[in-house]
Amino acid sequence: MPHVVIVGGGFAGVWSAAAAARVRGGNDLRITLIAPDADLVLRPRLYEPNPERAAVALKRFLGPIGVDHVRAAVQDIDVDAHRVTADGTEIAYDRLVLAAGSRLVRPAIPGADRLFDVDTLPAAQRLRGHLRNRDGYTVVVVGAGFAGLEIATELAGRGRVVLVEQAHEIAPDLGPGPRPAIEVALDHLNVERRLGTTVTEVTENGAVLADGSSIPADAVVWTAGLQASPLTAQIPGDRDRLGRLIVGPHLRVDGDVFAAGDVAAARADEGHWTAQSCQHAVPMGKTAGHNAAADLLGIPWVDFAPAPYVTGLDLGAAGAVYARGWDRLIALTGSEGKWVKRWIMDVIHPPLDDAATIYAHAGAITTPIPF
Ligand SMILES: Cc1cc2nc3c(=O)[nH]c(=O)nc-3n(C[C@H](O)[C@H](O)[C@H](O)COP(=O)(O)OP(=O)(O)OC[C@H]3O[C@@H](n4cnc5c(N)ncnc54)[C@H](O)[C@@H]3O)c2cc1C
Repeated sequence: MPHVVIVGGGFAGVWSAAAAARVRGGNDLRITLIAPDADLVLRPRLYEPNPERAAVALKRFLGPIGVDHVRAAVQDIDVDAHRVTADGTEIAYDRLVLAAGSRLVRPAIPGADRLFDVDTLPAAQRLRGHLRNRDGYTVVVVGAGFAGLEIATELAGRGRVVLVEQAHEIAPDLGPGPRPAIEVALDHLNVERRLGTTVTEVTENGAVLADGSSIPADAVVWTAGLQASPLTAQIPGDRDRLGRLIVGPHLRVDGDVFAAGDVAAARADEGHWTAQSCQHAVPMGKTAGHNAAADLLGIPWVDFAPAPYVTGLDLGAAGAVYARGWDRLIALTGSEGKWVKRWIMDVIHPPLDDAATIYAHAGAITTPIPF
């Protein structure tokens, strides 16, 4: 029986599995998802006060649609032999979907092992556990990008937060559109900013900055720099500066390998590549899973065509910014922005337990945000 193997159980992996299972219908096709953990982790929710709420049991998604879950990590991909090796077990495939996501790159600085982050569920839980009984804490957050701003503003409610950013302005990757609203929120929450510098050492007592000054702190949280899974290096093909495999509109890398989510860069529209975001990982996963199965079954393929790009940035007690388009023109701020951000956080939660609902979502490759 032909076999579709999906590596990764994040947004891209689970939606690849669902789209492949939907295309399969009554045909003979085996679908296996390989991922080490029992849960899908909704990484955009890891800055929240209870990060364990970001965990969704994979068996409640994969079970109803007849997808096998092998709980293991893939170490080797042999594209010539059509085989992956996961924790010592070889698994053969006819079509492979690589959806192993991204991970935070930790800096090579003294004391880096003392850094906290919110990149994974265990890391987010470790930070929360560390701060739990420390009201009036000081936390240094390194990186004023998306993840840094969300965790900084979330933590600002119960202590002093210092945001360190090597660029000379906050939110360097978000552009000038939302910056004034973010500045207002940071002022409102008393989040201090140290711009044009970075943390060069983490000590028992806090952070040392590039100019030699120190900030005594209970925790230093690193948020800067996501890289695609190192598994991408085992797939022949072009890569971008984030290590992502460049894919065409069918999300095929080459041969019998597809890639989706944070491991892949596809054209989102004429002028833009996809962002490492769940709003792209979900439709990329659906496209790759559909096409991997369709290729084996002789069914028409689909093109990747994501919904218009939006940004929903949580700013803690100051609300949220919701912006439209790649220029991130602000549509909503404050409590209205927060309402939309919460709506988005609910919408990224996949349907569970019911195959018909899962297939209905899998068939709608693009779901525009109605705001
Ligand atoms: C703090 C934070 C906040 C974010 N906020 C937002 C936001 O507001 N909006 C937004 O759109 N995006 C946001 N993102 C980005 C978003 O979370 C990612 O783009 C998205 O998770 C990518 O999905 P993915 O399935 O490609 O990868 P991941 O979610 O990274 O999933 C990868 C999966 O692959 C598995 N895996 C990894 N290596 C292996 C291996 N060797 N073998 C087998 N399995 C493996 C992992 O266990 C995991 O199951 C945020 C990310 C972070 C960290």
